[in-house]
Amino acid sequence: MTGTTGGERPEVAVTPRTCVGTGVCAFYAPATFELDERGRVRIATGPGEDSAEDIGNAAEACPTQSITLSSTDER
Ligand code: SF4
Repeated sequence: MTGTTGGERPEVAVTPRTCVGTGVCAFYAPATFELDERGRVRIATGPGEDSAEDIGNAAEACPTQSITLSSTDER
């Protein structure tokens, strides 16, 4: 599973290997990102959705570029 959030929202991929666990992404987009038990990012599995803007802010705010967004505007 790649963590697609559907709609116009970007496809989201995370790289836990480079994550340093700041939690900034989960702050901006808590329905998309969460930290696992080791404090590394993963795609959130809970209910709800974040806006594309929130997801973009989360990706931009990540200090280690551990979040990759790709547009899925193929309708
Ligand atoms: S913002 Fe980046 S470094 Fe911080 S928890 Fe999220 S993915 Fe990890």
